[in-house]
Amino acid sequence: MTKTDPTPSGTMAAVPAVLLAHHLKQLKLPTILREHEKVAREAARDGLDHVRYLLRLVELELLDRERRVVERRIREARFPAVKSFDTFDFAAIPGLNKMLVLELARCEYVARRENVIALGNSGTGKTHAALALGLAACQRGFSTLFVTAHALSSQLMEARDEKRLLKLQAQLQNVKLLIVDELGYVPLSQVGAELLFEVFSQRYERGSIIVTSNLPFEEWPTVFRSERLTGALLDRLTHHVHILEMNGESYRLKQSAGRRRPASVEQNTPPGAGQDAVAAPAQDDPAAPSNLPS
Ligand code: ADP
Ligand code: MG
Repeated sequence: MTKTDPTPSGTMAAVPAVLLAHHLKQLKLPTILREHEKVAREAARDGLDHVRYLLRLVELELLDRERRVVERRIREARFPAVKSFDTFDFAAIPGLNKMLVLELARCEYVARRENVIALGNSGTGKTHAALALGLAACQRGFSTLFVTAHALSSQLMEARDEKRLLKLQAQLQNVKLLIVDELGYVPLSQVGAELLFEVFSQRYERGSIIVTSNLPFEEWPTVFRSERLTGALLDRLTHHVHILEMNGESYRLKQSAGRRRPASVEQNTPPGAGQDAVAAPAQDDPAAPSNLPS
């Protein structure tokens, strides 16, 4: 007597797989869900026992999870572009202390709640360096926020008008690294300057700040509209600070000068004859942020 299966063949066999997929989704283990069949085939091929099979899967999930967390931190940092020191040409700015920059890229100053100020004329890589330090901080587990001084003071004024200043201030306090770019490019309003001062003051010894500015400290009073406020601000900001001196030739200008030069001249120039910066690959990577999953 043959026993007949009440369900069409294959249907019952699929149930455990469906349940497993459901449970893995609920447990938020997308990598195990995606990889378990492939890894099972590999485990069978390599003769791995079930503990090693499970270990391999769990390790994959952990690696992926760390990558996803870093990507989220990078998205939340709101970098206008993702740049790193891999694409930074130190030879183009000989006045910059490379050792200090590479030391800062290890982010120990963030753990120590120290500050960084990058000073120099336009186009010398201050924003690039700040972005690269921000990226390094995200990769090393520090929450980061990038904003220009002008945008930040506008956001603060708007928040004050809309009675949500305390909330914004708390958000700005919560990040481990706050990057304030382009201080000095646009003069701040009196209120904007005071609100910005308050942010810096609230972070004093509580969280790191990176400031980039085209203005030497002597000219900061024109940005903050007050000697007294600037004095108090610099006092706090520079108490634990690493200064990056970034005065030099504009990298942008050098690049566009290189592009304007006739091709025949470029071909006749021996490699390395002062052309390094011009020959460096394009630094902007506008595609980078959109590569991140949303
Ligand atoms: P700054 O903020 O000092 O005005 P940026 O960081 O915006 O200058 O630099 C202008 C452009 O030149 C950017 O595209 C930047 O990536 C590039 N750049 C500047 N300095 C360097 C450098 N030393 N190596 C590689 N790229 C650089
Ligand atoms: Mg800049």
